[in-house]
Amino acid sequence: MKGHIARICTSFIDIPDKIAIAIYFAGCSIRCKNCQNKELWDKSSGQEYSIQDVLKKIKEHPLADSVVFLGGEPTDQTDFLTELCEKIKNEDKKNLALYSGREFEVLSKKLLENLDLIICGPYKEELHVQGWPASSNQRVFRKENGQWHC
Ligand code: SF4
Repeated sequence: MKGHIARICTSFIDIPDKIAIAIYFAGCSIRCKNCQNKELWDKSSGQEYSIQDVLKKIKEHPLADSVVFLGGEPTDQTDFLTELCEKIKNEDKKNLALYSGREFEVLSKKLLENLDLIICGPYKEELHVQGWPASSNQRVFRKENGQWHC
């Protein structure tokens, strides 16, 4: 299976107080007004990666204790994302975070199994805040002892 990925880099800001490897998925079908990552709306903004390609990249960042999926819209490639999460959890035991323009309630159970943090909901310019997340409608879910809390 292949995924369309625009870039993979170190991030100090996407998960508060964590060093993370940020995986930017290419392509977004949600298209929020005035999205700040419009250059990633088209799948062609990325390159094809296999799961093994991504795992290899992750191993190049041994100091990072987390991986964050963002984009673009990672859940537009949900089969790839779900398998990638499973493999990272099995091999590297890192914390896994997801930014999605979709709501928590529509995400698949299988995807939720291996995630630890989810920032969800579309970006709404009229609800923009100077903080985190970027608009006040967006919700943050954390998994504690196997249970999700918002
Ligand atoms: S879901 Fe994210 S990438 Fe997609 S349009 Fe909204 S803010 Fe932009």
